Amino acid sequence: MTTLGTEQRPLWIAVIGAGPAGFYAVEALLKGDAHVRVDIIERLPTPFGLVRSGVAPDHQSIKGVTRIYEKILADPRVRYFGNVSMGSDISHDELLTYYDQIIYAVGAQSDRKMGIPGEHLIGSAPATSFVGWYNGHPYYRNSEFNLNTHQRVVVIGNGNVAMDVTRALLAPVDTLATTDMADHALAGLRASTVTQVVVVGRRGPVQAAFTTPELKEFGELPGVDVLLDPVDFTLDPISEAQLAENKVAGRNHEVMKGYIERGLSGATKSIHMQFLWSPLEIVGHYGHVTGVVMERNRLVDDGNGNVKAEGTGATRTIACGMVLRSVGYRSVALPGVPFDDKRGLIPNIDGRVIDTANQTPIDRTYVVGWAKRGPSGIIGTNKPDSVATVTSMKADWESLNGIADGHRTGYAVATLLTSRSAQIVTYADWQKLDAYETTNGNTQHRPRVKVVDIKEMLDIIKR
Ligand code: NAP
Repeated sequence: MTTLGTEQRPLWIAVIGAGPAGFYAVEALLKGDAHVRVDIIERLPTPFGLVRSGVAPDHQSIKGVTRIYEKILADPRVRYFGNVSMGSDISHDELLTYYDQIIYAVGAQSDRKMGIPGEHLIGSAPATSFVGWYNGHPYYRNSEFNLNTHQRVVVIGNGNVAMDVTRALLAPVDTLATTDMADHALAGLRASTVTQVVVVGRRGPVQAAFTTPELKEFGELPGVDVLLDPVDFTLDPISEAQLAENKVAGRNHEVMKGYIERGLSGATKSIHMQFLWSPLEIVGHYGHVTGVVMERNRLVDDGNGNVKAEGTGATRTIACGMVLRSVGYRSVALPGVPFDDKRGLIPNIDGRVIDTANQTPIDRTYVVGWAKRGPSGIIGTNKPDSVATVTSMKADWESLNGIADGHRTGYAVATLLTSRSAQIVTYADWQKLDAYETTNGNTQHRPRVKVVDIKEMLDIIKR
């Protein structure tokens, strides 16, 4: 049997998806003595996943992490194939014939539904698509968000995405205009008449998933008051215990109590943080959102040391012109790859993708990031997660037979992909597009001006 991972016979590995989890997997693969070649296959022309299209534009410093990913892209052992879709351009079975191992790093491209009536109404949208829209993700650039015929938006959910979209709606547009927020979103927000965002959590302030820096940012928005109801801060015994144990909850509690003490300044804009309400129905008129019917909750012991929300039957309607449901992302199934529909992820044991019917690993296929563990954690969370999967991959190297010789030169797959993709984007191509965006940004004192249309990206590269 040929020894794999030598200079004569390097291991060929495909990473599908160029987000943080994918890059941390490549970084881990390149460490060590084995000779490894990695191809990163990404459906968009642009790399960096949610760092480019998810991280809030007013959190630019977080995007500095791409410097690490750029170094990985520049490594001679790594090739970038942008604008290539796994599924339509190359199938899972084909990937298996060209690569010794395959890693899916595809993230969570969809959103969780609340499963309530009225979710389909015009003006009701997942926060994830609003995020994609303001961050210039090509798939969301044509989404329409009506921001100029009403004053109030309701955001459902208490995670950091809910915090991000609330800031985007109320921050001064002149400040946002110094970031890389997409130009179409800046224009939409400039015309916005929204003055109030109601952020609604189904459980209490102690159980909120957002973190303290994001909560503090609410209080730092100029011309915006933060309103909370002191009634929501009367805690049940389990919440009291959680507050004592959980440092983040404790810090959040202090900040929120500070907002209550601070009171109102008479600002024209406001954020209302409301706890213990669940949406029952989104109501509308002629197909457009006019409000959300909410039910008051109480917290009850869930039997696992935590609390869950239970409806009390008391309801009220919050009038609004837009509802953003921010209740979490969700992965989507890939053709030919197992998918756990209930949990919304690729089933795996230690990163090895498994067939759920018999719980055994399928052939040479692995998963990292949100597609592996679900949509939780910050960018850095992906590093140990990817290292863990790569540890499983390395343990499997001994038992690999190796793909056919004719398929492992690197030319064969490049030829196939060139014949399938309208235009492959290489790392050099990305550098060209990157320079174009940052040069345009420099002239406007912004980090970059994003190109948001795939055709335009490809034209710039071709020039
Ligand atoms: P998340 O943190 O999981 O929060 C989801 C929220 O939705 C929770 O408050 C949850 O409440 C609520 N929810 C779920 N189902 C609901 C329902 N049917 N009705 C009402 N509420 C419901 O998700 P996320 O905000 O999408 O963020 C995803 C991950 O990215 C998180 O780990 C987050 O920290 C991270 N992120 C970080 C940053 C940052 O660092 N600045 C920015 C954005 C995202 P329960 O707790 O009651 O389930």
